[in-house]
Amino acid sequence: MLNLAPELAASSKPPPQSVIGVSRADLAAKLKLLGVPERQARMRVSQLWGWTYVRGATDFAAMTDIAKELRAELAQAFNLARPEIVTEQISEDGTRKWLLRLRDGREIETVYIPESDRGTLCISSQVGCTLTCSFCHTGTQKLVRNLTAGEIVGQIMLARDRIGDWPGAIPDDTRGLPASERKITNVVLMGMGEPLYNFDNVRDAMAIVADGEGLSVSKRRITMSTSGIAPEIPRWGEEAGSMLAISLHAVRDQLRDQLVPINKKWPIKDLLNACRNYPGLSNAKRITFEYVMLKGVNDSVADAKELVRLLAKIPAKINLIPFNPWPGAPFECSDWEQIEKFAEVVNRAGYASPVRSPRGRDIMAACGQLKSASIKRRASEQLA
Ligand code: SAH
Ligand code: SF4
Repeated sequence: MLNLAPELAASSKPPPQSVIGVSRADLAAKLKLLGVPERQARMRVSQLWGWTYVRGATDFAAMTDIAKELRAELAQAFNLARPEIVTEQISEDGTRKWLLRLRDGREIETVYIPESDRGTLCISSQVGCTLTCSFCHTGTQKLVRNLTAGEIVGQIMLARDRIGDWPGAIPDDTRGLPASERKITNVVLMGMGEPLYNFDNVRDAMAIVADGEGLSVSKRRITMSTSGIAPEIPRWGEEAGSMLAISLHAVRDQLRDQLVPINKKWPIKDLLNACRNYPGLSNAKRITFEYVMLKGVNDSVADAKELVRLLAKIPAKINLIPFNPWPGAPFECSDWEQIEKFAEVVNRAGYASPVRSPRGRDIMAACGQLKSASIKRRASEQLA
């Protein structure tokens, strides 16, 4: 083992500033502080972005078109670190779930859902969630904080590392990966947290994800799912312009108040008005309404009819989600027969592809099952 002088040992700790998640303008300003001349800053930012987001570099030493001295200075000032993997699980169907540890020790989950021709990454926007939807596992987690833009983008970087989604990279495990050239073609903000309660960081992160010189996932392939923070919905459209998904789950305020308690603040009428005002809304840019199927609670044919009535005149898709159970959940998933009856009403009204097939249930990676596994682990250790 090398005996490092104390000052060297100290400098071997990665610098706290990350390149990942920093806007071009902020990165340029930081480079200037390092002494990079003003007229070079833009070019250097482009080079850094290219290595970081297009090629997936994890080390400044690889950035061969940047002068050696500057590379050394960059390595002193910045890191390219991804969140640390606590566990990686791969489901029978190829779905992958990562439990990730952030710099402060907090944990989040990220899920990758491969299909034959595309791959969707489901990312988290907060540690836990301040909202307490009664059917959602994440809502039972107490610790909550917003993720930084770097932590949000970092989930995609980490996933691309693991599935070999960089030019020339080879994944450790190819199970279930799509045939498409890019393995992550879509990004959905449907993991832990309410994205619109972390508006600025999520918006800044998605700007990098959508940037042609960043991660290059077009806005049409990014979907932000919200439980219904009505006043922020049009603003999100203006400032981020991604596809929108609404966690509706009930067609009457009395029931929605119980399932999605934020409904007490912004009831269905306000929510749907905000949707009607979503910038760019059109048949080509329809809003997805998510509807979790809860046995005997919201799954009647009358509910289906009311759903269709409520959404009339809004360019919409309806996504029926079979309820994914979690330990201690106070609900059951609707019977398949009932889901079909419900879907038929929805189909007859002209809405296609309604039932979302649950993915990765065997590894608790399906919608609403996310909750940092360490908490579960600790609980089971205590029980043992
Ligand atoms: N907080 C945001 C985004 C994360 S939740 C939101 O609520 O929209 C992603 C989707 O999973 C939401 O539609 C949510 O209602 C749904 N969901 C939560 N728990 C679920 C469960 N146990 N089974 C099925 N879907 C669930
Ligand atoms: Fe939060 Fe969404 Fe879960 Fe509701 S459904 S508790 S808003 S993560």
